[in-house]
Amino acid sequence: MRAVTVTPGVPDSLRLTDEWPEPATEEGAILVQALAVGICGTDQEIISGSYGEAPPGQERLVLGHESLGRVLEDPTGTLQPGDLVAGVVRHPDPLPCPNCAVGEWDMCRNGQYTEHGIKGLSGFARDRWRVQPKFAVGLDPVLAPVGTLLEPTSVVAKAWDHIERIGSRAEWKPHSVLITGAGPIGLLAALLASQRGLSVHVLDRNTTGPKPGLVRSLGATYHTSPVGELDLEPDVVVECTGAPSVVLDAMCKVGPTGIVCLTGVSSGGRTIDFDAGALNRALVLENNVVFGSVNANRRHWDLAAEALARADQSWLNSLITRRVPVSEYADAYTSGGEDIKVVLDFAQ
Ligand SMILES: [Zn+2]
Repeated sequence: MRAVTVTPGVPDSLRLTDEWPEPATEEGAILVQALAVGICGTDQEIISGSYGEAPPGQERLVLGHESLGRVLEDPTGTLQPGDLVAGVVRHPDPLPCPNCAVGEWDMCRNGQYTEHGIKGLSGFARDRWRVQPKFAVGLDPVLAPVGTLLEPTSVVAKAWDHIERIGSRAEWKPHSVLITGAGPIGLLAALLASQRGLSVHVLDRNTTGPKPGLVRSLGATYHTSPVGELDLEPDVVVECTGAPSVVLDAMCKVGPTGIVCLTGVSSGGRTIDFDAGALNRALVLENNVVFGSVNANRRHWDLAAEALARADQSWLNSLITRRVPVSEYADAYTSGGEDIKVVLDFAQ
């Protein structure tokens, strides 16, 4: 069967093979026919050779962690043949840390977790894959065209879950949220914010392309000015750029008792002048919280599936700006200027 693979650590080793073996039954009882795989920056890092790890004893890693498929067979009866399904990306470490032991593998403390298509587990960019029931997330049939968005939405569902847990430390009635960066994560964070009835502001440097319209059709406000120049004091900031100056400005911009959730990964290595004392003073005197958030556990995947099913399906469809047949896989991994989300289509 077909599979898109790389040799981790070897730049430009991306290949499509027709001779990848069928998934081993040890991978899980549920056999799935792949429909599509979403592509993100992590895939690009793996292709560039700077990230990624093949399963033990294998040279090549199957890519793909943003999955969508249709159940072919499930002898456990958890799902029915024909059901839409996505596979949870991260698996807990085999000798679980305290968090993994209770299903909070998104909070793994020892880094021994594994991840499909990224770290030690085959990805979903292959014609068929298997999944264990506890890692299989069923989707509403209406999500067939857009279900690959479940993985990035799970990341955002976790971010909002933790924002609300932190908010509950005291009386908390948030009114406004600022989201920095209108990529897939930023736009999905804005969707979940609008579902919470918040006044939503999204900041991005793009003045053209689909982003301004997508933000406005959520009922949110689109900004292109620097964070520091915005005339608002948000209760929550969800930072999705990882750009150091935007991150620091976001920390300074948030209002009293504000919460800043950092989801963007910076590359590091660059230094900028910054008044750390002034930031410390603002954080202390206003009871502000800055925290990082990555990945998602099973509960967040289920919350994400509910959020997507409730969303405007044509809006979700607009986030997928290109659908590329597997035979033209190399095009899918070459980013286009105004792409939001590119999907590799296994049904073609
Ligand atoms: Zn762990």
